[in-house]
Amino acid sequence: MSQSSNLRAEDVIAWADACWGSSCACGARLVGTDAVLSLLLGYKSQPLCIPCLSEAQQEDSQALVRRSLAYMQRLDCYRLGWEHAQKRLAEENGESAPQAPKVAPNQQDPTHRSELAPTSQDAWDAGNMGCGDLVLELRVRLADLAPNDILQVRATDPGAPQDLPAWCRITRNPLVHASHPLYWIQRRDPRADT
Ligand SMILES: [Zn+2]
Repeated sequence: MSQSSNLRAEDVIAWADACWGSSCACGARLVGTDAVLSLLLGYKSQPLCIPCLSEAQQEDSQALVRRSLAYMQRLDCYRLGWEHAQKRLAEENGESAPQAPKVAPNQQDPTHRSELAPTSQDAWDAGNMGCGDLVLELRVRLADLAPNDILQVRATDPGAPQDLPAWCRITRNPLVHASHPLYWIQRRDPRADT
C-alpha cells in the first residue's frame, strides 16, 4: 500500500473476515466486531477481543464501544466494516442485526482549552493522508514519545478537523491545540489514569 492510499471499506471488511475465528491473547474467539475495533484503536498486529481492548485502553468496555461507534460514524471505511461484522455476527447467531446505539451529535471539542505554546514537541507532516492510515501512523508515532510529550501534526486531509479531535478523545491523548492543518497532540500519561 502506498503512503497516500486511504483505508477503504473493503479493506476493513476483508480484515474483519480474516480475523474471524482467530484467537485473542486471552484465548477468546475473535469475531469481526472485535477485529474492526482493534484496527480502529491501533491493535493491528495483535487484534484483541473487546474485553481485552477495554483492559488495554483502561476504559470501561461500554464506554469504549460507544465512543468508538461515535467516531466511526464519520469514517465510512470503519462504519461499513463494523456494519458488515454485525450483520455476519447476527447471521451466525440466527438473529437480526442489532442497531448501533445513537450518539449525541456535535459534542463540543475542547480544542481551544489551552493557548500555551507546547514546550516539548516533535513534528510530523502527515500531508493529505486520510482516514485510517493517519490514525494508525499517529498511534505509532505517539508511542515513540515519553508520556506528556507533544507531537505536532500537520494534516491537510479535509476530514482532519473532525477526525483528529475524535481520535484524541477515544484514545485519551489530549489535543492541546488545533489550528487546521496543525494539531498538537499530547501523549497521554498512563499513570494519570485512575
Ligand atoms: Zn481477549
